[in-house]
Amino acid sequence: MNLSAQSGCVAQSGRRNFLGKALGLTAVTIGTAAAAGGDAAGVKQPGDDAFGDTPQSLTPAGTDFELAHDRSVYAYTAKDGDLAKVGFEGKRWGMLIDLRKCVGCQACTAACKFENNIPTGVFRTWVPDVELGTYPDTKRAFLPRLCNHCERPSCIEVCPAGATWQRKDGIVEIDYDLCWGCGACVNACPYDARFINPITKTADKCTFCSQRVDQGLLPACVETCVGGARQFGDLNDPNDPMTRQVLSDVIQQLKPGTGNEPRVFYIGLTTELQNNPPGIPTLWSKEQQDMDRNDHDWDIATGKESDHV
Ligand code: SF4
Ligand code: SF4
Repeated sequence: MNLSAQSGCVAQSGRRNFLGKALGLTAVTIGTAAAAGGDAAGVKQPGDDAFGDTPQSLTPAGTDFELAHDRSVYAYTAKDGDLAKVGFEGKRWGMLIDLRKCVGCQACTAACKFENNIPTGVFRTWVPDVELGTYPDTKRAFLPRLCNHCERPSCIEVCPAGATWQRKDGIVEIDYDLCWGCGACVNACPYDARFINPITKTADKCTFCSQRVDQGLLPACVETCVGGARQFGDLNDPNDPMTRQVLSDVIQQLKPGTGNEPRVFYIGLTTELQNNPPGIPTLWSKEQQDMDRNDHDWDIATGKESDHV
């Protein structure tokens, strides 16, 4: 059995079902309205959607995730205590990004901005668009980037304010009331995943959209991914569609030599990108060190380089 193909199929079933309904619009137009859920005269009934279906008949967003994880156990309840702080006992959230499917559309970048209210110039997730090779033997590549929610996060131990911690389910969080914006964690992250938010003046980064995950929903970037390149799931659950693919496909992690053990996995990551991921330079980066040597300033708040004054 091809586990890879099967799990990818399960993971995308929600989108396919929705697309199937969308394509059914053609059938509505050329077929009978009754077959498409409208009335016999083809007149839309109150409550019908644009496709002539009742909204309930459409597959809700994130259905594949809910099917795999039983949404009834989610949402903030007294039995979970402070779920936002401690996370889910026994789960280990992770993400799988299939670079063969990423089309570089930046829908994930935009979705994250809207969901998490991220100001201009800084990003919790972004998709660098790079050219590999030397002309004329070149090819284009996209590399979605975000916090890796590392198994051993180097960002936590350096925080002098105790403002960043890891939940039981692996999500690395920041307490924005405790953070004083010193940038130590920004400097310590080998993946350039953190930045200083120019509005809040605190450290900031991807949280796997924990506010959505805690409600049984997918992270906004996964929900929005046009290419179906991003999957999210529980690495502790061998039956999870994402985990089955992680276990059965050849997967890579960014900079495996850091010892951080990232929990964001890739399919189709070239060695060139794996150890030298393109992105926005932070204090940790080689680019930053080069800029320092070249006597330039790097404004970490705006993400822009400026000459010394
Ligand atoms: Fe921390 Fe960076 Fe790992 Fe995210 S990617 S957990 S910010 S070390
Ligand atoms: Fe790639 Fe999906 Fe992001 Fe589009 S939404 S850039 S396909 S990861």
